[in-house]
This record gives sequence, C-alpha cells and structure tokens, in this order.
Amino acid sequence: MVLVDHIRCAYCGSCVSVCPVGALDLAETRLLVDQSCTDCGLCVSVCPTGALHTEPFRDIGAGGTMWPLRRRYDLIVIGAGPGGSIAAREAARQGLSVLLLEKRQEIGSPVRCAEGIAHEQLIPFIAPDSHWISATVTGAEFTVAGDDGRTETTRGEGGSGYVLERRVFDRVLAEQAASAGAEVRVKTAATALLMDGRAVRGVRVRSPFGEAEVESRVVIGADGVESRVGAWAGLDTTLPHQDTMSCAQFLLAGIDIDPACTCYYVGMDVAPGGYAWVFPKGERRANVGLGVQANVAGRPALDYLVRFVESQPHLAQGSPVTLVTGGVPVAPQLSRFVTNGLMLVGDAARQVDPLTGGGIANAMAAGRLAAEVATECIAAGDVSVAALSAYETRWHAGLGRKLARRYRLKERFPPSERASRECMRVFIVAVGGK
Ligand SMILES: Cc1cc2nc3c(=O)[nH]c(=O)nc-3n(C[C@H](O)[C@H](O)[C@H](O)COP(=O)(O)OP(=O)(O)OC[C@H]3O[C@@H](n4cnc5c(N)ncnc54)[C@H](O)[C@@H]3O)c2cc1C
Ligand code: SF4
Ligand code: SF4
Repeated sequence: MVLVDHIRCAYCGSCVSVCPVGALDLAETRLLVDQSCTDCGLCVSVCPTGALHTEPFRDIGAGGTMWPLRRRYDLIVIGAGPGGSIAAREAARQGLSVLLLEKRQEIGSPVRCAEGIAHEQLIPFIAPDSHWISATVTGAEFTVAGDDGRTETTRGEGGSGYVLERRVFDRVLAEQAASAGAEVRVKTAATALLMDGRAVRGVRVRSPFGEAEVESRVVIGADGVESRVGAWAGLDTTLPHQDTMSCAQFLLAGIDIDPACTCYYVGMDVAPGGYAWVFPKGERRANVGLGVQANVAGRPALDYLVRFVESQPHLAQGSPVTLVTGGVPVAPQLSRFVTNGLMLVGDAARQVDPLTGGGIANAMAAGRLAAEVATECIAAGDVSVAALSAYETRWHAGLGRKLARRYRLKERFPPSERASRECMRVFIVAVGGK
C-alpha cells in the first residue's frame, strides 16, 4: 500500500484523480489510503511535494537539511499568529537576527477566531487597512435570555471596532516581520527544545525538507492555545477544564443583519457559561458563533450553535459557508511564563480576556513586550530566568493586572448567573460597549 508522509503532504488532491482503483480519499486535513491500493505507483509521480512512496520513507530532502536556515539566531519565535509575528517584527526592527516558524502551510488559515477587535486595541500595532478589514462596527446589541424563556434586548453604542479578515491580517503581520528582516518559514514545526541543562538554547525543527537543530539565544513560544513549548521547558501550562471555552462558529452568508452592529446573546440555554455572537463581515454575512464552558455544557458547542441559528429567523435563512471550531483559554494567567532562555506570549501564556475570550490584541501586546525584553537581555548578555522575568514584571504591571481583575470578576458570577443584570453590566464594559 502506498505510504503517505503527512509532514510533506499539502492536501492538494492531485493524487486522488489519477488512482485507477479509487484507493485515495482527501479527507479535510488528511490524505487517506485504503486497502484497495495495488501499489501501481501512479500517484507517486504526480505528487508535487514528494509525499507519496511505494517503499518505506527515505529522506529525499536536500541531504536532510532545511531550506537555507542559519545554524544560530538571536531569537527563534515559534508560531506566526498575531503574538509571534509582532514579536518577530519588533525584534527584527531592533536589529536581532530572527527566525519565525509556522507549522501550518498557510499563515492565518484555517481561521480560529470571530475576528473582532476594538479600534484602540489595533492601532498601537498596525494602521487599519481595508485589505484585511471585513467590517467597521459602531454599535452593539445585547440580548439576555432568562430561564423563563423571555428575552430582553438593549442596544447601545459599541465604540469603534473592526471585524477582521484574519486569513489576510495574520499573513500581513508575518510579511511585516519578514520586511523587517526576520526569516519566516511555513510548514515548519518546532518539535522540541534544545536544552543546556535547564536552559533553552534552541529548537528542533521539522519541515518537508527534513529535520534540523537551530540554536538561539532566546526562544519565544507563541504557539497558541495548543501550546506545547512551555511544557517542553518544564512550565506548568495545563489548562483547567472549567476555564476552557469550547467554541463553534459559522460564517453565515445571505442573512439580513445590520453590518455596523455586533450582537451578543447570553443565557444558559443559548450558551452555558459563555455567550453567542453575531459579528458582521460586511453586507449580508457574519461570523455567527458561540462558546460554552466545557464543564457545564451537556452537549458539544456545535449542537448549541445549530440550535441557536435555528432559533433566530434572520440567521436561519442563511447558509454556513465556513465552519470554525476552537478552544479559548479563559483562565488565570500562568504563574510563570518565562524560564531560562524562553518566554511565552499570547494564548500560549493564557493572556486572553477571561470575560470575553478576546486575545488578538493581548497577544500582540505580549509579543511586543517580549521582543523588547529579549533585545535588552541579549544586549546585556544575560538571558537567564532572572533577567527575562522583566517581561513578566512589566506584563503584570500593565495588561496582566487588568486580565487578573477580569478573571476575578468572571469567578464572581457562576455560569447560572451570567445573565444577571450585574454580570451583564460587567460584560458590556468588557466588550467595549456603553
Ligand atoms: C472561535 C474563536 C473565536 C475568537 N474570537 C476572538 C475575537 O473575536 N477577538 C479576539 O481578540 N480574539 C478572539 N479569539 C481568540 C484569538 O483567536 C486568540 O487569542 C489569538 O489568535 C491568539 O494569538 P496567538 O498569536 O497567541 O496564537 P494563534 O493565533 O493561535 O497562533 C499560534 C500559531 O502557532 C502555530 N504553532 C503552534 N504550534 C507550533 C509549532 N510547534 N511549530 C510552529 N508553529 C506552531 C499555530 O499553527 C498558529 O498559527 C477567538 C478564538 C476562538 C477559538
Ligand atoms: S499506488 Fe496506485 S493504486 Fe495505490 S493509491 Fe497510488 S495510484 Fe492508487
Ligand atoms: S498529491 Fe501529494 S501533496 Fe497532494 S494530496 Fe496527494 S500526497 Fe498530498
């Protein structure tokens, strides 16, 4: 049976159509081969990435080397989300040699986000640009569903904000990092940290061209909610079950909405422990999703989402053209997110707003701060945990303090009280409403 190298496979589907016995099936993110394969080898020659073999794998890369990578950088950033790209961009602008690694083949895709961000959160990092803004929003509507089934809706000014096109936004940030001098590599995953005793001294990377060890003075783990980098370095990054928001979202097309208004729905029946949102993406389409608190929702988020859409006549008329799923860490920040030679930023450090689940702006702020501290420490020749802790200290003195307060507020209201007037007042302020 033909063998698939899933590291190399880019899910293009070229092989499927040449197979005479229909043994190949391109599942959404995986090529499957079934027993009917006769080992004829036809598919092997059409594969553009060399991912198919009729014999056990041999390394067909350029002698097992990466496509040109230096042996050593000042800084390696793992993950090209908003946190990682801003860290790479800022460090490169300060003159550091920077490698930015992204395991996916396309930065920003698949999207795992409702894409909302406030104007004042965005502009410290990048000037708004219509290429990656789907909608500008000025109003917000809040609907509370009580246990008796009655709903109450209030409408107010939401402050100025945007619904992004993150597929483009994330890529533009990585392009800015590259323009500043960082080397960016896609389809290149960090698979382990290189350690010198208890100090991080680099990263083991795997790409379609093979595996390599790359050294650096500092590593920034910006590897998102699925982060493993911190744990590799011995940091406790376990996400408590009750602090995990399980989310599902459709991009619904063909719906009647106000394209300048974000809508929020709160109630135990709608989204236990969380909320539902309708974020416009321009005329007649919107990100319609919800997050449920994993330990109190009896069913998967997707089930709640389908029920929610069906309950809203103006949404039920639409068609889902994209399904997004993901987890959001609405958790206390990690007690430590720095160790010798390593810093964590963004979702990897649980730097998400525990009330709203918003994390784009926090990740960018953390990325900038981590780059600033890395630059100072490298210049001073000290990247020990004591030196890099300046990042933790500055974080806790600024945004970290706000997020800690938000977590305490979240804890004050158990899931069954999230629809109370008092909790709604807190929530409305947190999402930037008035
Ligand atoms: C359904 C949903 C809706 C959301 N809505 C909003 C919203 O409206 N507004 C908002 O502000 N936030 C929202 N968020 C949260 C927001 O998406 C995240 O907080 C934000 O993306 C965090 O940025 P980041 O850079 O830390 O991580 P990410 O954006 O997750 O980027 C991490 C990157 O690291 C890469 N990576 C992981 N492991 C490796 C590895 N080993 N090697 C190389 N690369 C690796 C990943 O592929 C990924 O590209 C939402 C999240 C979800 C799931
Ligand atoms: S080796 Fe031949 S039979 Fe097997 S999957 Fe490829 S094309 Fe199909
Ligand atoms: S042709 Fe190659 S890259 Fe494309 S789906 Fe098949 S194995 Fe994957």
